[in-house]
Amino acid sequence: MSELILPPACDTALKALEIDALEPGTEAEIHLRACAACREAQVMLLAQEEAPLPLVQAGYFERLPARVVGKLQTRKVGYRPSAWWMAAAAVLSVAVGTGAFMAGRANRTPLVQAEVRPAEPLTHIEAPFTDSQDELGKLQNLKPEEVRDLLNQLQTDPPKGTE
Ligand SMILES: [Zn+2]
Repeated sequence: MSELILPPACDTALKALEIDALEPGTEAEIHLRACAACREAQVMLLAQEEAPLPLVQAGYFERLPARVVGKLQTRKVGYRPSAWWMAAAAVLSVAVGTGAFMAGRANRTPLVQAEVRPAEPLTHIEAPFTDSQDELGKLQNLKPEEVRDLLNQLQTDPPKGTE
């Protein structure tokens, strides 16, 4: 902005306006009557002066990067946990994790038993195999008269499952 070349009259008037926008002096006031650009500048300067509070202090943005960086550095140094705290936190997290794991196991053990318990339905699922094997076993253990009865029964009433 400093490279902006203003007419000397405007430059003088603007400097006077920056000092006192409301009463810049007779020389500037004469220029303001002739120069619309400087009148606009006066209006803007007056509007800024009537602002209830200055938005930022002079040089705020110029110093801002250095201030931010400085805060970050102090924060980084001030809040870095020490190695002891890191180790303690690690041990604590492991202990909590192990405890939670053991608690989960302790709580889950009955559930595991409950999940394993439906063994009866499983045998029912395998019922065709076991039943046939049981039938074969029964056949081997049958007494001769029972085998005869069974053969008679099979001849008269064939089993329906073999179809
Ligand atoms: Zn001007």
